[in-house]
Amino acid sequence: MSAISHLDLSSLQVGIRAQYQARDTESGQIRAAHLTAVGRMTPYAMAVNIGNGALVLWAFKEETPSGLWWWWAALIVVSGLGLANWWRQRRRTREIASPRAMHRATLHAAALACIWAVMLPAWFPSASPNQQLLLGTLITGMLGAGTFMLSPLPVAGLVYGTILCASALLALWLDGDPTFAGVAVLIGFYTPILMMCALFAWHKATELLRSQARAVRHERMLAMLLQDFEQNAGDALWETTADGHLQHLSARLADLIGATEEDIRRQPLLALLEQHSPDRATALARAMNAGRPFRDVPLVLDLGTRVRHLSLNGKPLLDDSARPLGWRGVMADVTDKVESDQRLRDLAHSDSLTGLANRVTLRDLLERTLAQGRPGSLLMIDLDHFKAVNDSLGHGAGDDLLKAVAGRLLACVRMHDLVARLGGDEFAVMVTQSDSLADTIVLARRLIETLSQPIQVQGRHVRVGASVGITLWRDSSTAVDELLIEADAALYAAKEAGRGRFEVYAPVLGERSRRRMSVEQGLRQAIEQRQLALHWQPKVDIATGLICGVEGLMRWQHPQLGRVDPSEFIAVAEQCGMIDDLGRWALREACEAGALRMPGLTVSVNVSALQLRDRHFINRVREALHEFQLPPSRLELEITESVFIDDANGALDQLHSLRELGVRVALDDFGTGYSSLAYLRRFPFDTLKIDRAFVNEVLLRKDARAIVQMISQLADTLGMRTVCEGVETAEQLAVISETGCHEVQGFLVSEPHTLDEFIRLHQAWPGLEQALAHRYAAPRPVLST
Ligand code: C2E
Ligand code: CA
Ligand code: CA
Repeated sequence: MSAISHLDLSSLQVGIRAQYQARDTESGQIRAAHLTAVGRMTPYAMAVNIGNGALVLWAFKEETPSGLWWWWAALIVVSGLGLANWWRQRRRTREIASPRAMHRATLHAAALACIWAVMLPAWFPSASPNQQLLLGTLITGMLGAGTFMLSPLPVAGLVYGTILCASALLALWLDGDPTFAGVAVLIGFYTPILMMCALFAWHKATELLRSQARAVRHERMLAMLLQDFEQNAGDALWETTADGHLQHLSARLADLIGATEEDIRRQPLLALLEQHSPDRATALARAMNAGRPFRDVPLVLDLGTRVRHLSLNGKPLLDDSARPLGWRGVMADVTDKVESDQRLRDLAHSDSLTGLANRVTLRDLLERTLAQGRPGSLLMIDLDHFKAVNDSLGHGAGDDLLKAVAGRLLACVRMHDLVARLGGDEFAVMVTQSDSLADTIVLARRLIETLSQPIQVQGRHVRVGASVGITLWRDSSTAVDELLIEADAALYAAKEAGRGRFEVYAPVLGERSRRRMSVEQGLRQAIEQRQLALHWQPKVDIATGLICGVEGLMRWQHPQLGRVDPSEFIAVAEQCGMIDDLGRWALREACEAGALRMPGLTVSVNVSALQLRDRHFINRVREALHEFQLPPSRLELEITESVFIDDANGALDQLHSLRELGVRVALDDFGTGYSSLAYLRRFPFDTLKIDRAFVNEVLLRKDARAIVQMISQLADTLGMRTVCEGVETAEQLAVISETGCHEVQGFLVSEPHTLDEFIRLHQAWPGLEQALAHRYAAPRPVLST
């Protein structure tokens, strides 16, 4: 009733006009729904019309007026047309109806009404009271029932009602009986009310249809959006009934949970998930049991070929009286994210090249083991000639080698031991099940043994070898950092002792390693803070007694440690990658001094084997010569045999390039390392410097003298000059002079001096003999540098 009270005639009018004229889909659908509603009643209505016609005939059966048969025939024809029309359309479900269909229906209703409208004025006035009663009742019923039946088609209803009403009033008027005036008033009063009621019914039905159409439209749109959502996102909607079975199944959802439609129909959601979930979907079950909305509940499904990570949101569906109807929510596939997170975590804890644990993991585990008070040992492993492989065969080969080493290490250890790569060619093994030194040493030997076997890398056999530093702990009194430093110190000692060995940590090594660390740290600022200097030691030509060359030797004054020996800091610089910087500095310094302060002298600079491996080394030399305008022939580079060890061919190429540049090349420390005379044949050195160790022995052993002699002669025939280093006594000098050696260098002649001191010495140089005579006449010089 509220709808009626809100309703006014003008809005009814607008609504009716819209229904009969509007061309939009929704109006068409509403028209169709109304026509269908009326159509459904058509056979009954037509039957009633024909039956009522027959009733009229029966009422006049005594004396049937001839026109009445024609009237009935017309009624049958019009009703028959209505029936035929219904019959034709009975199977068709109308989705949409045009305004024309509405007009046709109006016409048909008007035609029927007209037939009845003819009957009343024609035969009512002359009928008997009984016949009049029958006709009156009949028409009143038809007016009421017909108008109401036609209410979905308001114009048809109005036309029908109006015609019948008018005809009834006309019949009453023709009859002329004054008592019918009251009946006429009643009809005139009650027909409009009837029509209004029909209109309201129509209005209500129309509103209902409209809101249904809107709901369908929304549903379709929602379905479309959902489909879109499911196709584009990795997500799916899920909805269950109160008993937990999935509803509104989508292919995406079935795929996500790895179930067939059949499975889904048979089993509730939780049961389906439990089958594939390693933890039996406990988190989800718990969330659903709580009966409250939940978010981001993780679920892992093992789908045989892959593992899927899902994240579920859901909320309970309740009816009006808060009884549970089921659940609805979104299931998101977060596998990619979980896996990439995992990869990131793995990356943070493992070495990406070898897959071994990394330094972080080693530290973690050490910390945990120490916290638990469990004993164990740590072995730090360093490959001996890794850099050579990397430099000569390339980084790809270096990587392959590291992977192979990782494999071998893993094969050597037991299940509980941890193998880690700490970076570069440094590895570590942590043993936690034993604190026996003997066991650890056995393991260290095994590691060294396996790593000394040739490793196949890119079709070539490479031999690297390894040094191992060991430290042990029995309780949690040592800190992780200390353990790492201890193992490192032991490793360093092992390397110093000649590689391919192991060393067990002892406190004295700790001192050494701490010092090494200070040296390393100090070196980083040595150049900038001008703590470095070159000292100069002359080389004297034995034949002429004149200074013919001068070697620059590096000196470093450390602010705390004081003067650090070059043999100590050069080794550290080589290990921590700073030798290139130091070498470049020395080279420039020597070229500058040679060009500007020491005209006519050959200046020698020591070059580490590592420097020579640098492809840019030649350019560095060229630049330094160019910068100070030093003729190349006045620069001599002293290298040791070690350059040939790792990559002989590469070293030879570099040496030849230096030679092409016009620079002199000296082989330093000859007689210490491999002392292979073959090297002398492989590269035409300009100078051969015979090591101090040889010189020392000259006086002690007969054969040493013969060897020096032989070397000198060989060098002579190969066109090389020979220099004896470390000559300290006149006796040594005397013997050396007889061996045919060309030059001497050593404290006997002069210790290394600062540049200014050296220049003074050079300027005042009286010749070797005089210098020595002078020296020996004077108090003996202090021999230390
Ligand atoms: P080295 O090239 O063989 O240098 C000769 C070493 O013997 C120098 O030690 C020198 O002071 C010392 N010496 C000279 N005459 C005598 C002697 O009569 N008796 C004794 N006992 N020693 C003598 P230093 O200066 O301590 O240098 C040690 C090593 O450090 C050098 O050996 C060289 O290999 C390296 N070094 C020095 N400066 C440089 C540099 O600028 N670059 C590179 N890469 N290495 C350098
Ligand atoms: Ca030297
Ligand atoms: Ca030397």
